Amino acid sequence: MIVAMQESATDEQIQQVVEHLVRMGFSVHRTTGERQTVLAAVGARVDFDTRNLEVLSGVEHVHRISAPYKLAGRSWRPQGTIIELGRGVQIGGDQVVVMAGPCSVESKQQLFTVAELVAKAGARVLRGGAFKPRSSPYSFQGMGEEGLKLLREAGEHFNMLVISEVMEISQIALMMPYIDIFQVGARNMQNFNLLRELGKVKKPVLLKRGIAATLEELLLSAEYIMAGGNYDVILCERGIRTFETYTRNTFDINAIPAIKELSHLPIIADPSHATGKASLVNAVSRAAIAAGADGLIIEVHPNPEKALKDGAQSLLPEAFEKLMRDLKPIVEAVGRHQ
Ligand code: PEP
Ligand code: MN
Repeated sequence: MIVAMQESATDEQIQQVVEHLVRMGFSVHRTTGERQTVLAAVGARVDFDTRNLEVLSGVEHVHRISAPYKLAGRSWRPQGTIIELGRGVQIGGDQVVVMAGPCSVESKQQLFTVAELVAKAGARVLRGGAFKPRSSPYSFQGMGEEGLKLLREAGEHFNMLVISEVMEISQIALMMPYIDIFQVGARNMQNFNLLRELGKVKKPVLLKRGIAATLEELLLSAEYIMAGGNYDVILCERGIRTFETYTRNTFDINAIPAIKELSHLPIIADPSHATGKASLVNAVSRAAIAAGADGLIIEVHPNPEKALKDGAQSLLPEAFEKLMRDLKPIVEAVGRHQ
């Protein structure tokens, strides 16, 4: 951490800041320039709040050098994390993992139709919401446990892993027997109590970026889960809210290579929610894989006009098959396989 003193700072003020830092456990290196004194403080605790220093008299500004997260940071596992998801599927290694399915489980027929198709096309994980976070309390809220049962049944039938969104702590135990991966939605990225509880479970967690969350906030949320002992966290870029209204969200392609620099955790892309438009999903999916994403999560519906949620961004079966074909050369170009 660098503490730059004001030009007008007195020797006494500088001394007080040095003593404060030493009391906090830092070792301090002082550089006295012609105009300004700069203090380099080494040995910061990760939870140190730099604002506590900014208020001391004579301090101009404080700059943190080390990241405020430890377990989620790249330096904790420089080689990267590979997570065994089950059924021979690994994420974070050479394999590009495609998760696909409807936004919400609506009926056995709908789910099985989609599952059969996406499995045939090469998806290894079946997605489907049973508990849905809706902007309106009057919108369809999901099938609940019935939906989870159908997901498990379809997963067994088509040899797929199953992912579904958990919205609150009380749902964790209920979901345990039915799902292979817990999904934490954008709206819950900073539901810290939920994250802490997911730190205690023995199943991987897909953590989606909040609609207005910075990458640092996303990694701090991952840190909550990891601090509890669950290191199997997969991150997901699902678009952020910007001034653009043509698309539902703005896909932040920067996030993919940036997370790879900052963290060892796998990261996947969700072009469905990032664009909100089925016509854009194919191109954005390919861009994400080219940028280094470890996988994709894609919404598919046999009849998007009739979908109870997110029809406009859901791919028709044929469009999903085409996407899987179109991905192939990109996956190979980046030296990976499906
Ligand atoms: C979803 O996956 O259907 C969903 C609600 O996603 P998000 O949390 O990214 O909005
Ligand atoms: Mn959705």
